[in-house]
Amino acid sequence: MKINDIPVREVEENYVNIHPIQAAGRLTAEAMKALIAYGDGYSTCDQCRKPFRLDKITKPPIAEFHSDLAKFLNMDEARVTPGARRAFQAVCLSLAEKGDIVLVSALAHYTEFLAVENARAAVKEVPLNKDNVVTGDAVAQKIEEVTREEGKKPALVMLDHFDYSFANEHDIAGAAKAAHQYDVPILYNGAYTVGIKPVDGKALGVDFVVGSGHKSMASPAPSGVLATTSEYADQVLRTTQMIGDVTGRKFGIKEVEMLGCTLMGANLLAMMASFPTIQRRINDWQEYVAKSNIVINAILDIKGNKCLSEHPRKHTLTKVDTTGSFDKIATTHKRRGFFFSDELKQRGVVGEFAGATRTWKLNTYGLTWDQTSYVADVFKEIAGKYDLL
Ligand SMILES: *Cc1c(COP(=O)(O)O)cnc(C)c1O
Repeated sequence: MKINDIPVREVEENYVNIHPIQAAGRLTAEAMKALIAYGDGYSTCDQCRKPFRLDKITKPPIAEFHSDLAKFLNMDEARVTPGARRAFQAVCLSLAEKGDIVLVSALAHYTEFLAVENARAAVKEVPLNKDNVVTGDAVAQKIEEVTREEGKKPALVMLDHFDYSFANEHDIAGAAKAAHQYDVPILYNGAYTVGIKPVDGKALGVDFVVGSGHKSMASPAPSGVLATTSEYADQVLRTTQMIGDVTGRKFGIKEVEMLGCTLMGANLLAMMASFPTIQRRINDWQEYVAKSNIVINAILDIKGNKCLSEHPRKHTLTKVDTTGSFDKIATTHKRRGFFFSDELKQRGVVGEFAGATRTWKLNTYGLTWDQTSYVADVFKEIAGKYDLL
């Protein structure tokens, strides 16, 4: 099947996909319908009326979606963004000035580094403890250290609740407390939480909550959310003050960091179409964590395997080390590391990094109970075939 010369993607139709970044961005059927219905360029603008801003449109119910999103995260204001990274960028550009320091975790995602660099500020990393976790104390210490060395406190702390590498849980509430003790705002990076587990921004005590639509909200790329408090809304969602010097033109309530309007068509409507599912599925989070532990325990039953993430798992994304098992087979196998992906694919499982047999990540989010035991059995079956059990 092709669309002109573009092959049709059939990964989700034909396989069980355990890809680390794809599992929770898989679309709902409703999102697929919305993509088709609103695929035309400025489709959301049919009924855009004064004061002409995306988040004010009531038909389709985009305004209502924005207030629902803010409620969903227990924050005061929400905007949709083209990915979590554009939300980091908006916050960094409005809070950090040239030469300022922004604190991130030693496991921060590269997009956090880039957002800080884009604002002409610089990152400093909060070190991990021996369990590869960021604590509130470590944040407090780093704020003190930076303040001493730079002569001013950091402009912002950005912290991932679950990091992209191990998906270990970091102490957001502790970090928020520490940051606020020094009067530094804190951004909660929920790329791996918003849309799959309950997130309560006020309870955590954070100033910003950022989520990724395509990572964890069953939405197309790019999509994401930025939520904030009334305290910071005026600053980060400030409206344009520019006046054209020749024409005297002004652009009313367009928001500067959002460049007016953000997700203008199918991406937003698909996000909205998936939202009822998202609201429901966050309540099943513990079930998905239990399934994750079943698969990881099966991997650990294979001699020589290690779990590099916290164990028992508190997330569906996990980094494992199979240097002592599958990698030993890879050294002599004619397909090298690809033998492992071949064996998985033959059994209908894809998404592990092809050729990787040392350390690699998998994400079991969304698996049914049947698929969970099937995937667990597949790892053991491959191990059995190569005498690794
Ligand atoms: C995936 C990821 C991001 C980037 O999210 P986008 O929505 O693609 O911009 C940022 N931070 C973490 C921790 C991530 O895992």
